[in-house]
Amino acid sequence: MIERHSPRKVVALTDGDVASLEISASGGAFAVLAREVLRRGGVVFGAALAEDGSVRHVSVESIDELHRLQGSKYAQGHVGGTFAECIKVLGQGREVLYSGLPCQIHGLRARVESSGLEHEQKERLLTCDLICHGTPSRKLFAVYLDWLADRHGADDGIHGFRFRTKEFGWGLYRYYYYYYRDGVLHEVSGGAGDDPYYHAFSRGVIYRKGCYKCPFCTTERVGDITIGDFWGVRKRMPGAYDPRGVSAVLLNTPKAVRFFEDRIADSGVCSWSDARLDDVVAEQVNLRHPTRRSAEDERVAARIERALEAGDYGEVFERLLPVDQGRNAKIRRALPKSVLRLLYGLRNGR
Ligand SMILES: Cc1cc2nc3c(=O)[nH]c(=O)nc-3n(C[C@H](O)[C@H](O)[C@H](O)COP(=O)(O)OP(=O)(O)OC[C@H]3O[C@@H](n4cnc5c(N)ncnc54)[C@H](O)[C@@H]3O)c2cc1C
Ligand code: SF4
Repeated sequence: MIERHSPRKVVALTDGDVASLEISASGGAFAVLAREVLRRGGVVFGAALAEDGSVRHVSVESIDELHRLQGSKYAQGHVGGTFAECIKVLGQGREVLYSGLPCQIHGLRARVESSGLEHEQKERLLTCDLICHGTPSRKLFAVYLDWLADRHGADDGIHGFRFRTKEFGWGLYRYYYYYYRDGVLHEVSGGAGDDPYYHAFSRGVIYRKGCYKCPFCTTERVGDITIGDFWGVRKRMPGAYDPRGVSAVLLNTPKAVRFFEDRIADSGVCSWSDARLDDVVAEQVNLRHPTRRSAEDERVAARIERALEAGDYGEVFERLLPVDQGRNAKIRRALPKSVLRLLYGLRNGR
């Protein structure tokens, strides 16, 4: 039985490194924690987007490589051999930060518990879970990239997919990718609602079945630290608001509180304020219960599964998963980017 913990301390945090904050999905809490571990010779594990478009856990040992792990990849990943690698590194007496979805952190902790490592070696592992509303399957993301590549006539697939660029500020607004056609580079960026996969992801329609019954959607956390977007911070804690992103950081174990207080709090690497757990929970459904989907969305999901089995990807991405047809989305599509940037800037107080 893997023990869970209620948060002991909660903070709103924004990374002080502007370049790092720009490529982080939220307020850059992950990078703040990771840099501290790397600076002292530790190893950081997290999810990277591989060249073939799959999401894979990898380890990094230098701050220069950290960018590979930054940013949200909204698809199920492979942890591969990283649990074994993590145990090996701990066995060498090094410090490890392992970040992942709560179900992955649960799996890691179970492996570490039964690994035969000494208590002091286990104590050098700091786990960081994300607030998580669910992941679509690897297969769905892979065929989506294939479908996109076909649609664009790309030479060798889609590259560098980023779900959350901060082109228009912090939020689930913009995606980006690039591809080559006849050797010529093409870059694509768009609004979340303009993309069938991203729009369905944001609406919670296409997660794996288990995500709708996820046992980790609670404030009883499996990681030492939990990070997520501090949605609603502008209203609830105006002094902590930063239009470039604010992370909610839940310090769940004594080890996590010590790490934060001894190594982050006075280091000047980020701005932070004490926060109330209730203010985080109020805007985070997935700290209260798993994502719910309507009976209609379940029927759509079943049809998607059948279409995937039949290899009919056009049916999935052109008919079953329509882009946002709402009035606002249509207005957004009609506006030039410069106007959109200005409007989002005003909305976010940039
Ligand atoms: C599938 C998914 C669902 C999420 N749901 C919510 C939510 O409901 N509410 C909320 O507030 N936040 C959610 N998040 C977290 C949020 O998107 C940010 O990842 C988080 O706030 C960390 O941001 P950051 O600025 O600190 O660092 P970033 O640099 O943006 O975060 C990078 C971290 O995210 C990890 N990561 C990215 N993609 C994956 C993946 N596919 N699998 C495992 N780990 C991954 C990396 O390992 C790294 O540790 C979700 C993230 C994912 C991947
Ligand atoms: S919702 Fe739960 S089961 Fe699904 S990916 Fe997130 S932590 Fe894992």
